[in-house]
Amino acid sequence: MIYLISLLLVIGLVLLWLGGRRQLASGLPLGRVVYIDTERLGRLKQPLYDPVHDLAGQPDYIVEKPDGLVPVEVKSGRAPLSPYRSHVLQLAAYCMLVHASYGERPTYGILKYADRAFAMDYSSSLENELLDLLAEIRRAERRTPDRSHHSANRCRACGYLQVCDQALD
Ligand code: SF4
Repeated sequence: MIYLISLLLVIGLVLLWLGGRRQLASGLPLGRVVYIDTERLGRLKQPLYDPVHDLAGQPDYIVEKPDGLVPVEVKSGRAPLSPYRSHVLQLAAYCMLVHASYGERPTYGILKYADRAFAMDYSSSLENELLDLLAEIRRAERRTPDRSHHSANRCRACGYLQVCDQALD
């Protein structure tokens, strides 16, 4: 009987080990998938929102690990030699959104390409780079676009004449 119990225990451990390897091979960290992109699967769910930074977005997955939540962004193309900066910043934004939505700051996120996955640390320098980018975007949103003409008549007839700092007279 003791042999049977030992055998079952060994089989159980092997199955656990194989399951973990399969999950690692898929590019996802060991853990439970707790959030799945709705559009991709055709189900409706709210995107995450950070009111402090006025940021909204929807990672493909959020995996729950014993040491915290890990956002996962899936890219359909093949992996570059190292992840594109735009992809890393997108993942950083998801880390920020997870922090704001769940009250837990992820220590890293995962970029999963078709053939490879990268774990990217959500370091304070990456967070600062993201904050700088967000500030630049906000500044650009507030900036008045340059006047595209030289016609004073057009300005006189314009509804924004009183508030425009580029008006011709
Ligand atoms: S007043 Fe300002 S917004 Fe209006 S036409 Fe002139 S430059 Fe453009």
